[in-house]
Amino acid sequence: MKTTMASEGSPDLSIQPSTLKPSGIEILPSRVASIAEAGKPGKGVNCGKTSVAGSVSQRACVFCGSRVVLYPIADALHIVHGPIGCAAYTWDIRGAQSSGPQLFRNAFSTDLQELDVIYGGEKKLERALLELIARHSPKAAFVYGTCIVGLIGDDVNAICKSVAAATGIPVLPVASEGFKGTKKDGYKAACEAVFKLIGTGDTAGISPFSINLLGDFNIAGETWVIRDYFARMGVEVVATITGDGRIDAIRRCHGAKLNLVQCSGSMTHLAKKMQAAHGIPFKRVSFFGIEDMSAALYEVAKHFGSDELMEKARAVVRDEVGKIYPQLRAWREDLKGRKAAIYVGGAFKAFSLVRALRTLGMRTALVGTQTGDAEDYNTLREMCDPGTIVVDDSNPIELAKFCLEQDVDLFIGGVKERPIAYKLGIGFCDHNHERKECLAGFVGMLNFAREVHASVCSPVWNFVPRRSRCRSLLAGDSEANASKLAPASGLKPTEAVA
Ligand code: SF4
Repeated sequence: MKTTMASEGSPDLSIQPSTLKPSGIEILPSRVASIAEAGKPGKGVNCGKTSVAGSVSQRACVFCGSRVVLYPIADALHIVHGPIGCAAYTWDIRGAQSSGPQLFRNAFSTDLQELDVIYGGEKKLERALLELIARHSPKAAFVYGTCIVGLIGDDVNAICKSVAAATGIPVLPVASEGFKGTKKDGYKAACEAVFKLIGTGDTAGISPFSINLLGDFNIAGETWVIRDYFARMGVEVVATITGDGRIDAIRRCHGAKLNLVQCSGSMTHLAKKMQAAHGIPFKRVSFFGIEDMSAALYEVAKHFGSDELMEKARAVVRDEVGKIYPQLRAWREDLKGRKAAIYVGGAFKAFSLVRALRTLGMRTALVGTQTGDAEDYNTLREMCDPGTIVVDDSNPIELAKFCLEQDVDLFIGGVKERPIAYKLGIGFCDHNHERKECLAGFVGMLNFAREVHASVCSPVWNFVPRRSRCRSLLAGDSEANASKLAPASGLKPTEAVA
């Protein structure tokens, strides 16, 4: 990409030349400050801003941010107030599982049409809510605002209020109009909606050793794995917000003594609100990788100041690590020295992945997130090996170029990063919310290692010419030389990632 038309955070709207930074590849000038290199001094990574115009960000919209956070609340009705595309785009969007109700997996929508845009969609929303609540008897309903609803000005709050009064269940508006910020603003809107439920239930009988799990979404049953570890320690999990979530549990979760925040990007806002309103302290943890999973269990034992809990936590770690370690050691032999790229939503997951890859003998050569803050990026620069590229809110062109330049063997990301990796001839590991594989806890580390080993060591990469060709062209080789390296491809680097 040679030019840019406009940029957020840069008042200069003129077309600017591309810039060679920070590691020799072309970057949009407005993007340069969002990229850093571990081991090199420099300013903090520019982050927490709306995406640069002209850079096709990997981020989703505000509405999608809210939808992915609230979606796993299984006994609630989720209705998207907007055109059908918003609902279709987020239908069954997570690999989240429920141990009971499956209502959450439906994508209800008011399907706004042209006439609704002209005359307003309030009546349609009211009719849809009354009909769906009568038919499905949910414990609560979430009503998601979308771009068009923000533009036509439907009074979603008033409709929710009147339907709640008529039906006797909480009907919660989610102020998630897609255009009004970043995906992180969607997380905030989701937290605001859930917060309205908290404090409305009975807290009788809750154990003094009790926690809530915030930001675990029960992908492939991960919440159940984590709950089991805490049950073995004698710690009660009052509510999981939102994996395998239940409205009644959320209503009484202010009775728990500690909040564990697993997905920091999405749920720190809720944890802070609960601390302010209900005096519940919170800890940011991660359940990915041996080190972080163990640390999470020890943190809880330490918080409650109980030797017995600590002893039980040690026993869980000892048992679980003992089961997986011999296999991890064998795979580590094959993976030693291989390089990986990481691009994920939240920074805490990125920290865990850097550590988990080290456990497997691998090095992180590129790491980026959609929603990290300045402190997160400082941590990544400190914890990664010198030369690792650290990037906020990246785009396919940057990611592809960095992957080639760093010559990575594996890309860990989500649904939008998968085609980038495969088109470049790089192994891929899905670590996003759509996946169907449990990657949390100790058993998750084993699954992760299995997948990484199978992807990196697959012989298929011996038959993918594109990667060597792109690398050759990127290094400035002529078409003729590149074709000698990889005659079967016939693609230019930009075509390879388009
Ligand atoms: S950007 Fe707007 S129109 Fe597109 S999915 Fe998000 S809310 Fe819907």
